[in-house]
Amino acid sequence: MAPPPPPPPRLLLASHAAVRAAASARRGRLAGDHHPPQVAALRRGDWVKLICGASFEDAADVRNLSLVYTLAGVDCIDCAADASVVGAVNEGIDVAASIVPSVQSPWVMVSVNDDCRDLHFRKAEFDPEDCPPDCSKPCEKVCPADAISLERVMIEGKHSQSDPSSGKLEGGVITERCYGCGRCLSVCPYDRIRAMSYVRDPTKTVELLKRNDVDAIEIHTTGKGTDMFNTLWSNLGDSINNVKLIAVSLPDVGDSTVNFMNAIYTTMQSHLQGYNLWQLDGRPMSGDIGRGATRETVSFAVHLSSMSNRPPGFYQLAGGTNSYTIESLKKAGLFQSTTFAATSGVTYCQQAFIGGIAYGGYARKFYAKYQHNLAMHALRTTQIISWKRYKKLYH
Ligand code: SF4
Ligand code: SF4
Repeated sequence: MAPPPPPPPRLLLASHAAVRAAASARRGRLAGDHHPPQVAALRRGDWVKLICGASFEDAADVRNLSLVYTLAGVDCIDCAADASVVGAVNEGIDVAASIVPSVQSPWVMVSVNDDCRDLHFRKAEFDPEDCPPDCSKPCEKVCPADAISLERVMIEGKHSQSDPSSGKLEGGVITERCYGCGRCLSVCPYDRIRAMSYVRDPTKTVELLKRNDVDAIEIHTTGKGTDMFNTLWSNLGDSINNVKLIAVSLPDVGDSTVNFMNAIYTTMQSHLQGYNLWQLDGRPMSGDIGRGATRETVSFAVHLSSMSNRPPGFYQLAGGTNSYTIESLKKAGLFQSTTFAATSGVTYCQQAFIGGIAYGGYARKFYAKYQHNLAMHALRTTQIISWKRYKKLYH
């Protein structure tokens, strides 16, 4: 008797259309929820945002980062305000949901700027033909995003392979991978690298916000004047009503910081229909560097905690955040527990001052280590999201 036919191969991933429909339904439910889980996380103080990079536009990498971050259970994924990048984030989230259907769908946040002086919105650039062929290429080695690729090629009839000063360098910056950290600029011994700053086109941002797959926007501002913020806000118009959360990312500019924040809040109030968040930006794009990198964002939090006239909204740390951030917050007395009390069926909660943390370079460092094994990386990323684990232990 002939053996029974083998069972059809088990499909690991649902069709993209089915997954997208499910994601849409999840978003629809979220929109109708009184307390979206992301907001509950901000209230408790255990919100985690993962940053792909305001200028990082390598769609394949963004998709994989988003897949892993979603499986790790983050609340929000922050990415460049670019249609293909947003598509890649959503694809990563969809694939994660097809692997673990119960996974929480993180909010998708797009980052824009009102002023080209914000360091997140720049790209490194150089002409490799200007580089000495025997340069040891420290730029390539220091780049945390593998965004520089250089190769020495021979020029016919004018070289010897064994002579390092012969030939020429080819390649350069892989623009879509550069997220503007600036580390290559300072290591180039010949000062060949320039930083090209830019401002995201508000017209394209308006189009993005009208799609149904963007949940939040983050406006980076330098704190050096409200005019540019007001202009961008006006250009975004009613499109801002399509998102659930509006974040403003800014550095600590000293005594004028709170007045600046209040002025911005006054501008936003005219259209503020969702939630708002203040991202306290410390030392941009440096979380992977080490312990000291987190100092500035924690100092910013300490500064604001002493100001009684700070504007309403959630507060979240970013810029240099890493495994030392929670320890630093604890030392500063800002790692506060949340108290819940139920009375007559109504739940009251005391909101944590710091709603959560955004991780960028620190999380990416783990990703780079384990990118060849996404499942393993998902586990690792879950481990580094110690914010949530600490909070659980703390309660
Ligand atoms: S600015 Fe940073 S990310 Fe961009 S190429 Fe230089 S080192 Fe790499
Ligand atoms: S370090 Fe400077 S000179 Fe050397 S390869 Fe890089 S850009 Fe060129």
